[in-house]
Amino acid sequence: MIIEPQTKLRNSRSGYPDPSIATVNELIRADSLAKIEEFKDKWAPLFSLGYWQHLDSRVISDLQAYVEARWLLCLAAKLRELIQEKRCTIENLQSISINHHQIEEVESGEMCELYVMLQLSSEPFYQYLNYCQDSYSGLGIERFDLTGVHPDTAIMRLMDKGQQSEAERWFSVDVPYHVSFGLENACVAFLDALISIHLADFRIASANNTELKAAGSLLSALWLCFLDSYKTGRAGCCIVCQKPYIAIGERGKSRLYCSDSCSKMHQRYKVFEKLVFSGEDADTAAKNARIKLSTALSIKEHTS
Ligand SMILES: [Zn+2]
Repeated sequence: MIIEPQTKLRNSRSGYPDPSIATVNELIRADSLAKIEEFKDKWAPLFSLGYWQHLDSRVISDLQAYVEARWLLCLAAKLRELIQEKRCTIENLQSISINHHQIEEVESGEMCELYVMLQLSSEPFYQYLNYCQDSYSGLGIERFDLTGVHPDTAIMRLMDKGQQSEAERWFSVDVPYHVSFGLENACVAFLDALISIHLADFRIASANNTELKAAGSLLSALWLCFLDSYKTGRAGCCIVCQKPYIAIGERGKSRLYCSDSCSKMHQRYKVFEKLVFSGEDADTAAKNARIKLSTALSIKEHTS
């Protein structure tokens, strides 16, 4: 997949297609185990078979790892949408699972903190994040020097509470900040941290005198696509299902839906609305518009 002229993105899975932003959207849309399974059939392995670790097939097929990896990707897309639309309020952040609290009162104002915690119950994603953290310290430099995320503004931690008990593992991102830094800037630092941690297994090489970016895993390649889409794209939130999506190269009207099926669902909703407007009761209108009443009401709630 050509990301930009003369820059190629490769992941380490020889014989597989290279990912693009469409792949990122595919993973974001995979909101059930059945859809994750479908994604996996097409794109597995999500985690590396490359130069940093060999994972056996049992581990590769761990759907829970896909679920956890997808969760962070969705979080990043939703946060990006909030930042872009200038809707970074504490309430909106909480609605996407980012917590906010005041740490302490200092002379010059308040210190606050944004944080998220994700319980990791799968081995591969834990290993992946563990590798990402280690690869920075392995270079002998502070990981934050490399990522540009200041140590005072972002702390990423993998926590092992029990004795290697997988049920007790957590991944957290904390962004402590002074009120004068501003909530929106703290959100940007938070997103920087989230993206940066996923780019640890990249290498840049020269191939035929062209810059070649090679990822050790598909997951890292997807996060690079996500970062790259800042050049020509934006994050949106589907008006039908509320899932985030990344739109690139839009011309004219902005895209409103995450997928064709949500676009079709919205057509049905419009029929439903018309029928209700013309006096039909909601139940009958939903039946006639071939839409579930609960779906119609949810779209109504999010579009009005
Ligand atoms: Zn949708």
